[in-house]
Amino acid sequence: MDYLWSPWRYRYVAQKEPRRDCVFCTKAQQSTDQENLVLHRGLKNYVLLNLYPYTNGHLMIAPYAHVGELGALEDAAWREMADLTRKAEQALQKAYQPEGINLGMNLGKSAGAGIADHIHMHVLPRWHADANFVSVVGETRVLPESLADSYSRLKPYF
Ligand SMILES: [Zn+2]
Repeated sequence: MDYLWSPWRYRYVAQKEPRRDCVFCTKAQQSTDQENLVLHRGLKNYVLLNLYPYTNGHLMIAPYAHVGELGALEDAAWREMADLTRKAEQALQKAYQPEGINLGMNLGKSAGAGIADHIHMHVLPRWHADANFVSVVGETRVLPESLADSYSRLKPYF
């Protein structure tokens, strides 16, 4: 089956109105996927690389709908988010062969959410002792791979 994507139309069919001041809404509506590090578009959610990764290959899955809690997400979107989380796990396994994977969500600012009013699932590969000295002491991450290289590495698996 072929899909013709028209994300600019999504505002007319979305469950919740996209917001111009929300990075997840903005990226979902733009057509420049590679520039925005969008790896895959489902029907209700999309997969993108985190611009501020904790590790190389740090993925996020966000719904197109602007919702801040799981209960506000329609059932089909929640099910697809679970499916894409599994797909992300498999993509990371193939692309990076990590020793472990973290996945999870921060709901609300107090839980650590950078963008609290648009839910998103984090999926990131982990290696033994990957939180290195510079990260712990300097609040700085040392990442051996550029985002463009991460994108190229993961794209074939979506
Ligand atoms: Zn949003």
